[in-house]
Amino acid sequence: MRIQKSFYYIIVLLLLLGAGLPQFGGKVHATNISYDVRLQVNGVELKLDVPPLIKDNRTLVPVRGVFEALGGKVEWDAAKRQVTVFYQDTKVLLTIGSTAASVNEAGAVLDVPAQIINQRTLIPLRFVAESLNFLVNWDGAQRLVSVNEPAVPSQPLLGDVDSLKVEAGTSKTENTIVTIGLSAPLSATAPYKTLALTDPDRFAVDLPGFSLTPAVTDQTYADEKSPVTAVRIGQMTADTVRVVVDLLEGAKPTITVSPDGLSIVLKFAQYSGYFKPLEDGKLVVMLDPGHWSTTAGKRSPDGSLREYEFNQDMVGRVKALLEAQGIIALTSVDASLDNGTTPEPSLAERVRIANDPANAVDIFVSFHANASGNGKDWTTPAGWETFYYGNSILGKSLAKSLERATAPAFAAGLKNRGVKSADFYVIKYTTMPAILIEHGFYTNIYEVEKLKSDSWRAEMATYDATGIIDFLNAYK
Ligand SMILES: [Zn+2]
Repeated sequence: MRIQKSFYYIIVLLLLLGAGLPQFGGKVHATNISYDVRLQVNGVELKLDVPPLIKDNRTLVPVRGVFEALGGKVEWDAAKRQVTVFYQDTKVLLTIGSTAASVNEAGAVLDVPAQIINQRTLIPLRFVAESLNFLVNWDGAQRLVSVNEPAVPSQPLLGDVDSLKVEAGTSKTENTIVTIGLSAPLSATAPYKTLALTDPDRFAVDLPGFSLTPAVTDQTYADEKSPVTAVRIGQMTADTVRVVVDLLEGAKPTITVSPDGLSIVLKFAQYSGYFKPLEDGKLVVMLDPGHWSTTAGKRSPDGSLREYEFNQDMVGRVKALLEAQGIIALTSVDASLDNGTTPEPSLAERVRIANDPANAVDIFVSFHANASGNGKDWTTPAGWETFYYGNSILGKSLAKSLERATAPAFAAGLKNRGVKSADFYVIKYTTMPAILIEHGFYTNIYEVEKLKSDSWRAEMATYDATGIIDFLNAYK
């Protein structure tokens, strides 16, 4: 009974992990060859002139193409019809057509021999790769074999993975939090490895030096705002645990390790497919004019342009354009309170107002102009750029919409520095899609004239408003 139970446990574990090449449970036909199998080496799909194939339920791969890609060395002895694969201090020797093999001179038996097909030597992948300490995975649904570098040369186990938690976070950037708990700190030299996988989208964390306690099991997760649908865990090799997060989109989490090394926290941003700005019957845009008249610096070298004035003026213009289209345009700060003596409202205060549920803000747009150099001398950098936070799919989509709308200005000579990711405070901590626009450089002696021009400001305001409206229209 005990034997049956543990055998069942191993089979279930292998099935759950997709860790077994198709060597059990499959139909066994002596001449059954299938070619529809893809091969990934260290996360990159390998295209070989002779494709890998599955024969008698074993994956055979061209020896040179695969093991040289893994950093190994391959030698062929034509007289003896023998192939030797070397990696670090291990060597595996195979003879064409023979099931006898050796690993560092010790005998081993294969169930499918190395063979020559289309003038290429094909060898059983799993046997050779695992003998050389590589990690081999089979994804049946994707017909994908992946081979990865050894996580860590076999080392004594550090401890167990003793908890796995999936829970709701508190903001758009920390919508879903996966916490992996350990009985001993992560290795200082090889703490963990991450892997972003596609079709379907998954994010994996490998923990070398750990084993899995049976109490820790797979979990499903259901929250329409979350990109996470499940978290799976398994013992990938004798000394490595793999955690796989199943995702609705290719979201990469931010990862933090607790100071004591006992937990790894993955924070996933809100699912972009959830964004429904009109769900509450209204479209609300929060416009954020950067800085204040009492903010130090933030002016052109000749003092003819103050950034707060440009930002406040642009917000006023865009606000009017949005309101003309029936959109509710709120501002994060009340510029009429900027009387030259009041202190600048903090970034935290701007974020608090944006995130206040009473305001029902759908998107957040922070208005700025750019600067470079020491602030005293004119410098050459020029052009428009817009930032979104981290891996935010919606933030990037909003920034791209503004970029498309601004195309006429680029055609007229405004340099497009592009759409970029950054971790500026107001776009990081606001809970809705958020961007920060830098309209141009007031430290550039030519561009500052544009930034001061009423007609240029009017033109740029129409592009900003158009980009915002186009984005909202795409999601309503
Ligand atoms: Zn600024």
